[in-house]
Amino acid sequence: MSGHKLLFSGLKLWTSGTSRWISGLHDGVNKSGKACFSSCSPKVCIVGSGPAGFYTAQHLIKARQDVEVDIYERLPVPFGLVRFGVAPDHPEVKNVINTFTQTAKHSRCSFYGNVNVGKDVSIEELRQAYHAVVLSYGAEGNRSMGVPGEDLAGVYSAKDFVGWYNGLPSCGELSPDLSCETAVILGQGNVALDVARILLCPIDILEKTDITQPALDALAESQVRRVLIVGRRGPIQVACTIKELREMVNLPDTRPEMAAADFEGVTEALKDLPRPRKRLTELMVKTALEIPGEKEQERRNKASRTWGLKFFRSPVEILSDPDRKRTAGIRLAVNRLEGSGDSSRAVLTGEVEDVTCGLVISSIGYKSLPIDPSVPFDSHKAIVPNNMGRVQQAAGLYCSGWLKTGPTGVIATTMNNSFDTARSLLEDMDSGTLDVSPAKPGSQSISALLDKRGVKPVVFSDWEKIDSVEMSRGKAIGKPREKLLTVEGMLQEAQK
Ligand code: FAD
Repeated sequence: MSGHKLLFSGLKLWTSGTSRWISGLHDGVNKSGKACFSSCSPKVCIVGSGPAGFYTAQHLIKARQDVEVDIYERLPVPFGLVRFGVAPDHPEVKNVINTFTQTAKHSRCSFYGNVNVGKDVSIEELRQAYHAVVLSYGAEGNRSMGVPGEDLAGVYSAKDFVGWYNGLPSCGELSPDLSCETAVILGQGNVALDVARILLCPIDILEKTDITQPALDALAESQVRRVLIVGRRGPIQVACTIKELREMVNLPDTRPEMAAADFEGVTEALKDLPRPRKRLTELMVKTALEIPGEKEQERRNKASRTWGLKFFRSPVEILSDPDRKRTAGIRLAVNRLEGSGDSSRAVLTGEVEDVTCGLVISSIGYKSLPIDPSVPFDSHKAIVPNNMGRVQQAAGLYCSGWLKTGPTGVIATTMNNSFDTARSLLEDMDSGTLDVSPAKPGSQSISALLDKRGVKPVVFSDWEKIDSVEMSRGKAIGKPREKLLTVEGMLQEAQK
């Protein structure tokens, strides 16, 4: 056990009903309304309150009885992509919020929302105030297609489109034009399928979710009847998972539209595929090639909307209408595959195909962005270079979540990689590589800095006020929640 831990074992004396430590170290209540811990407890600061931030905090707090964790978040509201990414019709996924809330309410954890790290406070300032800083600020940029016409009206990134229907304040103005019949989504991962499903989902299902009211109104008026989900490679290489594909297959009032030719050789290849890939591919083959039973056929005949996975195509150009203002279609290059399985490459055949559409949504990946010039950043991989979460050449600096690994995997993947980062940090504390013996001021000095800069943090009890307003707004109209859509609106409720 490190000397530090020994020091703390003698300090766990709390006089109930007061906010004073018997040892008389530090007394009082900090800005988040939590009783202050000791001035010489190890202080860790986490940047970002998505799954990575909360899972890192959870592991640190559970593993050591003395660590204090402060989470700084740019927005006034916590939970990152659980609030602003996960589809509104996936409420069960959002249950992780209950665990995050327990962590946030822990006596050794504090939440400071409305603090834009890199702008309101620098990483260097945080490093001076804390023994360790964990960067968990996710992947808020998006990869561009790099094709002509990308800036035409009617072309959106999935990141913005998802942000719009989920109430991300920066996407509030998007108001996408849904007056066209065909939408093309580029990319075949789970985000692409989420977008396709939301575009085609019957309104009576969506209106019982926490989708924002402006998105619900726009989707109720939407003329989109056909969604094509386009991928560079073939059925065996799609990036979505079976749950999301099954949801498309079963989506009421829709039928699949797939080209049998895209599935040449796929049935024969099934036997050699690993199990999850095999089950996914079997479902695709069944949907694309098998003659459905009577009931399913009847369902498909009645459907007013179609969706399809379109394979072996890459975007070449977004085609405009004669005024050169709006999207009128997309030119796709036809590919063939070189090699097989996951490592196969799409190679251009020289052929192209034009598809008429009024909406193009590119879902080819999120990417992390640097937020502070003092932090090493690998702009090729768009991650912070790290070794098991330890930022390279920056002692006391760590990273977790999508910033550490790149934007792949589900919340459970993020949880595991965040626990790994927390383990690295704890190992460094125990081994003395991370020196936690000098007293650090933690949130006290940062709060003073923010105060001077006119930044008013939103603490967790303020978020709970926002939360309860959103829930009661939702309840009034039969939704689980009606989100506040602007930072100003959130701050107003927080300050009441
Ligand atoms: P984020 O969740 O992005 O959290 C980063 C946080 O950092 C945000 O709160 C952000 O506001 C904050 N931040 C950014 N910059 C700053 C700054 N400068 N200062 C302070 N704070 C900052 N997984 C599932 O398991 N099931 C699903 O159904 C599912 N659906 C998804 C749908 C979409 C559209 C997307 C994109 C992902 C989905 N995922 C899903 C994956 C899951 O959301 C991620 O695994 C997870 O959110 C990554 O966590 P993170 O904490 O690294 O990033």
